[in-house]
Amino acid sequence: MKKHNFYAGPAILPKEVIRQASKAAINFNDSGLSILEISHRSPGFTAVMEEAESLTRELLGINDDYAVLFLTGGASSQFYMSAMNLLAADGKACYVDTGAWSTKAVKEAKHFGNVEVIASSKDKNYNYIPKRYKVPTDATYLHLTSNNTIFGTAHNWWPDTDVPFVCDMSSDIFSRPLDINRFGMIYAGAQKNLGPAGVTLVIIRKDMLGKVDRAIPTMLDYNTHITKGSAFNTPPVFPIYVSMLTMRWIKAKGGVAEMAKKNKSKGGLLYREIESNPLFKGTAAKKDRSLMNVTFLLEKPELEAEFLAMCAAAGCVGVKGHRSVGGFRASIYNAMPRASVKVLTEVMQDLAKKHG
Ligand SMILES: *Cc1c(COP(=O)(O)O)cnc(C)c1O
Repeated sequence: MKKHNFYAGPAILPKEVIRQASKAAINFNDSGLSILEISHRSPGFTAVMEEAESLTRELLGINDDYAVLFLTGGASSQFYMSAMNLLAADGKACYVDTGAWSTKAVKEAKHFGNVEVIASSKDKNYNYIPKRYKVPTDATYLHLTSNNTIFGTAHNWWPDTDVPFVCDMSSDIFSRPLDINRFGMIYAGAQKNLGPAGVTLVIIRKDMLGKVDRAIPTMLDYNTHITKGSAFNTPPVFPIYVSMLTMRWIKAKGGVAEMAKKNKSKGGLLYREIESNPLFKGTAAKKDRSLMNVTFLLEKPELEAEFLAMCAAAGCVGVKGHRSVGGFRASIYNAMPRASVKVLTEVMQDLAKKHG
């Protein structure tokens, strides 16, 4: 049966990307070798790394003031690595607390300098994005989580400040165009909207570096990876390759502007169903709703098992919500076809016909 993959992460990748990746796992570029068994310093893989970087730059409009890195350790390692490299011991970084991932970022940054949480939506179980807060002008950076994977909220606007953003974009990178100049640093674990687990994309404006005087272990120093083109040690070659294939796919589809258009259309379809269907209600404030992770509840929670069984029967997998929100979460990343979202809305309609 055809599956419709709504998992939050690791998550859906374009079918063509999976096909190409499978082929390369057996015979990479007709070399007679698998991509899994060639040197990361071979011309074949070096070309992959270069293309991954140049596609990142092209798709997001990133100039040479920024370095583009492919690192290991997940987005979670960037929680501490960013502060370790950017935040002086007597410096101050501001954080907006919009959910579980932000909270973890705050905790790790506190190891290195003064961390001020200037706004939080914890009071309403993170169902909105805080607004109208002031960003102190002496902050080194403002840390934001652009898309809150668990709570289904997103920054659909950006704070008005000259303080550079350090932004966790793990679950919405490449989902829409960016004004890169607002960002001092962006990081994203690949496994939501870019590729397989195992690689983290880091984009960093080089002038953010060199402002701390603490000793930084070699592997945790961004400069190491900038100098060595993300190949100081063995990089995660297969995740980088598959991420590169996904970026080729995004480019062929018309780039991030086209992704944004499609994401709006898909998100619109699902949110309209949630609003019009008498059995369901959304959890996120309307203005702050995510187009990547759509969170919703049943008006009658006793129907939950039945709804999930109907989803499974229709091939919809990964719809169960995160335990901290409950209900359901449909992750509809770039690679999710609109037709699959349609299938889910039809299951919701079928449930309403039975119980409405
Ligand atoms: C999944 C996720 C993370 C954690 O990523 P890892 O690569 O597992 O460390 C961090 N931030 C956000 C927004 C996420 O969605």
